[in-house]
Amino acid sequence: MKKRDECTERAVRLHDFNLVVDAHFDLLMDVLDKREKGRRRVIEEDHLPSMKKAGLDLVVSSLFVSDSFVPDMALRRALDQIGALHREIDESGDKLALCRTWSDVELAKEQGKLAVILSFEGVEPISNDIGLLRIFYELGVRGVGLVWSRRNYAGDGCFFSERREGRKGGLTDFGVKVLDEIASLGMFLDVSHLNDEGFQDVLDFYDGPFIASHSNCRSLMGTMRNLTDDHIMSLAQRGGVMGMNSCSTFVADEAKVGPVTAKHLADHVDHIKKLVGIEHVGFGFDFCDMFRVNSGSSSYDCISGYSHLSDLTAELLMRGYSDDEAAMVMGGNLARFYREALK
Ligand SMILES: [Zn+2]
Repeated sequence: MKKRDECTERAVRLHDFNLVVDAHFDLLMDVLDKREKGRRRVIEEDHLPSMKKAGLDLVVSSLFVSDSFVPDMALRRALDQIGALHREIDESGDKLALCRTWSDVELAKEQGKLAVILSFEGVEPISNDIGLLRIFYELGVRGVGLVWSRRNYAGDGCFFSERREGRKGGLTDFGVKVLDEIASLGMFLDVSHLNDEGFQDVLDFYDGPFIASHSNCRSLMGTMRNLTDDHIMSLAQRGGVMGMNSCSTFVADEAKVGPVTAKHLADHVDHIKKLVGIEHVGFGFDFCDMFRVNSGSSSYDCISGYSHLSDLTAELLMRGYSDDEAAMVMGGNLARFYREALK
């Protein structure tokens, strides 16, 4: 058997036997959009078949509010997304579980259910009302990404590329209050989409570990959405993990390398491993192509969705990674982080 075929088979086997985690997916945006058009059992019918194929055990779904609903409808949109998840669980309860603690995740895995953790991708839904963070905690939200790629009451997000804009800030005083509240409620912090000034503010004002759920290495692909080597070292010192993002524009420059593939994403894993160690790498694919089927635009994801999730693992095995290292990347490292954060 050829080495590539052998690694592909080994990767699929490893995904079946180990915990597999995706730290970032806009699942509920898709679910709500489709339910509003009359669909039901969206997760069960549209997502679970390919997720099962990948051996996925845990997905962190963002609460993401698109620009057209910000600011006035952001709160309603987030609540509707959570409501939609509850309806989906009513309809497919033997297959899905909303998890608030790590033991919820373990129970879900035992029962063969997909574990879902909720995380803000931008705190627009709480506007400037810190009390609402507690309400969302009660609703089951455990992760907090302070910003998306825009400004909100907490701080400035980073754009994907340079824009014509005025001077940026980091975190606001409200953003610092949100950090304090995250620590006191026992939520976890996600720095993906934060700009460099905000990242520094996190180091200065927040003591705990944090993740970058879907960000790659800026030294390999020069977009502000990726982390610099200094950022990566700081994140590692805090015990954090970076989720590898499959979005091609954050992986490699197509004009230089041709079609961007899992091989290019594996270069980012290699880089982080060399810089701080393999225990700081995970998956945060942020798959988007499946939401853009009718948009007519070209492909966005360098890995073609959950049914090809093991492509990256296979590439790592080709490069000589051990089964244990592959298991850490596919979920072990993020599990370590969430277990501690969601005690
Ligand atoms: Zn994002």
